[in-house]
Amino acid sequence: MELHIVCIPGDGIGPEIVTEAKKVLDKAASVYGHKISYEDILMGGASIDAYGIPLIDEAVATAKAADAVLMGSIGGNTQTSPWYQLPPDRRPEAGLLKIRKELNLFANLRPAVLYDELAKACPLKDEISAKGFDMMIMRELTGGLYFGERKTFEEDGQMKAVDTLTYTENEIRRIAIKGFDIAMKRRKKVTSVDKANVLDSSRLWRKVVEEVAKDYPEVTLEHMLVDNCAMQLVKDPAQFDVILTENMFGDILSDEASMVTGSIGMLASASLNDTKFGLYEPSGGSAPDIAGKGIANPIATILSAAMMLRYTFDLDREADAIEQAVSQVLKDGYRTIDIMPQDEEGKAKVMQIGTAQMGDLICERIV
Ligand code: NAD
Repeated sequence: MELHIVCIPGDGIGPEIVTEAKKVLDKAASVYGHKISYEDILMGGASIDAYGIPLIDEAVATAKAADAVLMGSIGGNTQTSPWYQLPPDRRPEAGLLKIRKELNLFANLRPAVLYDELAKACPLKDEISAKGFDMMIMRELTGGLYFGERKTFEEDGQMKAVDTLTYTENEIRRIAIKGFDIAMKRRKKVTSVDKANVLDSSRLWRKVVEEVAKDYPEVTLEHMLVDNCAMQLVKDPAQFDVILTENMFGDILSDEASMVTGSIGMLASASLNDTKFGLYEPSGGSAPDIAGKGIANPIATILSAAMMLRYTFDLDREADAIEQAVSQVLKDGYRTIDIMPQDEEGKAKVMQIGTAQMGDLICERIV
């Protein structure tokens, strides 16, 4: 298969971690007989330095012409970088908002996986973390409260603020279809999260999700209220496979789910549109505090690249091979600084390595 991937190395640790993800993709391509072509575009601070704005239209066009986009991360130190002296619409993050909008990326996917070897970093009780978990949070990204009408005004002598939570049937249907499609590639269970005991938008959400479920008889659907879901994520995360939810609930729940895994350097993510196209990126930022030191953890970006193979290219076997190589590297005792055990006894059992070495060791394990 021929894969055309646009890369956005970005700022800070971005170029370092994207280099490792490309290395791993190339290894998987050579083992399984695929051909990958890459093209880089600038976004964020790197684009501001070159063009004065965080994303130029030509870069958007290049991204649109690709099969998928692999991104590092963008932005700098928000206190000290001159990029943050610019008006908000010229700062690095404006590039990210623009590309998401231009590419119509309405579905955000964030896996939260607890690796046995990193269980100590999990802040949950041992008896809960011992069961492990592997879930995918599917969040609607372009509708709901964050995009509804809002205003602040004076009424009866006091200030009043209004935000509007709106969803159309079609917006719900397209994300629900994505959620069920993803569940078909996993353990075939969808937990749809809403607040249907209170909100009309949630009642419509539930109705449309039930309609979509009829086309996926193999997938088990359950509904859960968002307050209960927040509790269940810390009480029994092993019960979840795909969590399907609207924008604001997903924003909060996906951060909660990532916290219980214990390490930011391990968290992959994807944003998809209604074709197979997607933008794949680690959940963390550009980590300016460690940029250029060769110590950043590239695993989140490597796992994002594996998601790309699975969800854009339907190369499940290749994605499995990368995920297994990551697991194996952890089993073999290699750690970047962010996932090093904190206690002396734990430290003695593993070996601290840098960004490039982690990439190399993962490549070696793809056979
Ligand atoms: P951050 O995620 O960059 O860093 C938080 C902490 O986690 C830091 O100590 C950092 O060293 C560590 N860290 C993050 N990724 C790591 C990795 N792969 N390996 C090892 N350690 C890692 O968050 P921040 O410091 O709040 O933000 C820095 C910049 O990143 C800001 O400009 C912010 O706007 C931007 N940002 C960008 C994105 C994105 O590109 N999608 C997302 C979040 C933040």
